[in-house]
Amino acid sequence: MNEYKNVWVFVEYANGKMKNFSLEVLNKGNSLAKEMNGKSVAIIIGNGVENIAQQAAACGADEVILVEGEEYQVYNTDGYTNAMATLIGKYNPSVILFGSTNDAKDLAARVACRVKTGLVADCSAIELNTADKQLIWTRPVLSGRALSKVVCRTKPEMATVRQGVYDRAQADNSKSADIVREEIKTSADQIRTKLVDFVDAGVTGIKLEDADVVVSGGGGLGKAENVKLIQDLADLLGGAVGGSRASVDSEWLPPSAQIGQSGKTVSAKLYFGCGIAGAIQHLAGMSSSKCIVGINRDPDAPFFDIADYCVVGDLVEVLPAFIEQVRQHKA
Ligand code: FAD
Repeated sequence: MNEYKNVWVFVEYANGKMKNFSLEVLNKGNSLAKEMNGKSVAIIIGNGVENIAQQAAACGADEVILVEGEEYQVYNTDGYTNAMATLIGKYNPSVILFGSTNDAKDLAARVACRVKTGLVADCSAIELNTADKQLIWTRPVLSGRALSKVVCRTKPEMATVRQGVYDRAQADNSKSADIVREEIKTSADQIRTKLVDFVDAGVTGIKLEDADVVVSGGGGLGKAENVKLIQDLADLLGGAVGGSRASVDSEWLPPSAQIGQSGKTVSAKLYFGCGIAGAIQHLAGMSSSKCIVGINRDPDAPFFDIADYCVVGDLVEVLPAFIEQVRQHKA
């Protein structure tokens, strides 16, 4: 096991910038590498993405490994798996961290299989046991009802990390890192999928996953017109609108807004659950938010069990009054 060293972070980016999620994972990778007396290494795959390497360096990576080629212009499972598996074979990293994004989850699973190691999915904590140098990985199970602690017996130890668990790495342009370029070719016939088109999901404003404030509406919204109430509050607070499956099934909100076990996971600084009962499947996607406010006319709603602030009342009355207060406060 001793030949395995360093902590790798798979870096994702969009529109010329590292994704916020990757900043979180890199931050953890940097601190973990220090604890393990190794280097944090940012892995960047793409085409014309030297600037992302510079950003990763500024955000504290000790080293950046850059794989570029036309075949990596957009994410594809076969090409990226080939690149990652080749790098792993050459460098023997000890740990590899991925964000829990659609692409990274797809890649992590495929790479783990390819290099014959395990994968801890959707990790919410990573600790190093200083006594035996063993990493302890924590992941929620049974829709968040329990936490399991995982110890890996194979190397590299690989995990996808839950969003919002770690602070984002901050850029410091005085920092630099070695940038190692690796030539890895993936031929066209190795890539079995082809991107035909991007279809805009129609989401405007702040993305749910990136929002510090999330205002969610559930079945208690009662009708599509009441979405305006949660939208107004989200706009006022610079946040994003989310919802439970009840409001998505009722077609008041788009499927992209669904939070929970079969939707998105958010970890907002401030989360409003308006007219949401608090089913375990919903809580699975938001319970790690820092401050949780529940608005429900049922004083016994299970949502109140996890809320920091509980407002018992009809959201049609509570939300306009609250919005007015916020407006006055901001004026
Ligand atoms: P409801 O259960 O209809 O509750 C509405 C709440 O609003 C009640 O508490 C009520 O008291 C309150 N209310 C009503 N009117 C008002 C009012 N005027 N003012 C204030 N309060 C009011 N759910 C998710 O959310 N996300 C998921 O990803 C998800 N995945 C699932 C996966 C599986 C496999 C299964 C089986 C279920 C899943 N569900 C998911 C569904 C989940 O079990 C619940 O059915 C759903 O979360 C209920 O949504 P809700 O609380 O908004 O609606």
